[in-house]
Amino acid sequence: MLFPKKIVDLSLVIDNHTPIYPGDPEPRLSVATTIAGEGYNLHHVHIGSQTGSHVDAPYHFLDSGQRIDEMDLKAFVGPGLLIPALGKSEQEPITLADVGDYVEQAQAGQIVLFHTGWSAYAGQEKYFRHPYVHIEVIQALLAKGVRTFCIDCINMDITGGSEFPVHDAVAAVSGVIAENLTNFAAIDFPDPFISILPLKLAGCDGAPVRAVAMQLFGHG
Ligand SMILES: [Zn+2]
Repeated sequence: MLFPKKIVDLSLVIDNHTPIYPGDPEPRLSVATTIAGEGYNLHHVHIGSQTGSHVDAPYHFLDSGQRIDEMDLKAFVGPGLLIPALGKSEQEPITLADVGDYVEQAQAGQIVLFHTGWSAYAGQEKYFRHPYVHIEVIQALLAKGVRTFCIDCINMDITGGSEFPVHDAVAAVSGVIAENLTNFAAIDFPDPFISILPLKLAGCDGAPVRAVAMQLFGHG
């Protein structure tokens, strides 16, 4: 029998203060009913399609791209390749010179996680001046057959800019991007198994996820 020995939660909490991309719908959670009133507890949850830890479907940047409910779920689970990219400055690119050794090891079907450490700044203005992934890194990983890319900051491209080369390149091959993740430092075991399964939102450009890294039994 196979079961997780350890599960690391890679998700931001969703509440009224969750950092959102500038201009996105603001999350609002509130009490709808109570046990004292109606006999059961229930909440109103108003969120955007990409609130909190989320995945982008190709449709996010491509009108003809797949929408989140149309995607093969294989894109959202698989062996993780954790790529350290710590110590970057504000709006500094992560380049092939930084991560080339990891890119070399990458294999088709792996889920790549860029570990910037920037989720430590969630709630601060600095959170939006995060490092970003240079398109040359994404092109090299796409050439290796990788189709799923995760990062622990709010955007894999520059936030506040008008160009999104990483999003365009990943959407063009029906890949997915997961953003606003956190806690990558807690993946302290080899061969993490990653799950970023999205909500099945009809026709949407993306969806929130409960992202996890699992240490499967038998390792470590
Ligand atoms: Zn995105």
